[in-house]
Amino acid sequence: MYCNYCGKCIQDDANVCAYCGTRVGGVIARKRLVRSREGRKVAGVCLGMAEYFDLDVTLVRLVWLITALVTGGIGFVAYVVAWIVVPEEPYKLAANVPTGQVVTNS
Ligand SMILES: [Zn+2]
Repeated sequence: MYCNYCGKCIQDDANVCAYCGTRVGGVIARKRLVRSREGRKVAGVCLGMAEYFDLDVTLVRLVWLITALVTGGIGFVAYVVAWIVVPEEPYKLAANVPTGQVVTNS
């Protein structure tokens, strides 16, 4: 199979592209809004939303921050609500995590 992001040939059962680090395969199967465990800054809300809507996580964080500032704190309350409401991403099985490959995009 090929990575949709960089177009390189990768393992058929790969969850993450070894070349660019983009999540592949699992994204289609898992179309649930979850708080990501990897690469989170606070609670993983922004990262989870970015993955769900296929957006840049920095853009989501900026929009969320600007919304919070413009609305005078409602955005922060919404973040906390999302923190409580949105479930955490389930732990990945050890077999699916390539050892020695840590993906840090942010
Ligand atoms: Zn790639």
